Amino acid sequence: MLLDLSHLRRADEHFEREIPAADLAGEDAAYRVLLPARLSFDVQKDKNVFRLTGTVAGELELACSRCLEPYRFPVASTFDQRYLPQTEVAAEGAEHEVGADDLDASFYKEDAIDLGELVREQFYLALPMKPLCTDGCKGLCAQCGTNHNLSSCACTAAWEDPRLAPLKTLRDRRDHA
Ligand SMILES: [Zn+2]
Ligand SMILES: [Zn+2]
Repeated sequence: MLLDLSHLRRADEHFEREIPAADLAGEDAAYRVLLPARLSFDVQKDKNVFRLTGTVAGELELACSRCLEPYRFPVASTFDQRYLPQTEVAAEGAEHEVGADDLDASFYKEDAIDLGELVREQFYLALPMKPLCTDGCKGLCAQCGTNHNLSSCACTAAWEDPRLAPLKTLRDRRDHA
């Protein structure tokens, strides 16, 4: 979904937009989008630089890194993003002195800002390093794959540290001697 910049009437305008889930799919399927994302933001225009400040709310489905089960992950984040015209930066080339402010700026082209891209960026920033369905997720049994959140298995009791096996053999020999 594009925000048309050519129709901005004032220097500061408020927008509410809903971005369909289909427009927000993650490229590497790091998440699944469950609901349309709600955007609420102000656009401040300063010559050809636009500043978008506001909030994005959405709901994602992530896979737990321990038990691999999908779980819902609500996102509610705020953003403050500057947009520079892409053509101008390219045209100025090496002449263009990149200010510190420009480094984290985004670009718009043909008088439009891609709101889907803005939301995808916010989603990626919100993703946890290590997704967990719950803080206390017990994960899967390394041997039989049982989800320990749902049931237990006999593996844990039977499991022995293989590094201790030679010691056990020695002990058994001694006991049976
Ligand atoms: Zn889990
Ligand atoms: Zn098991």
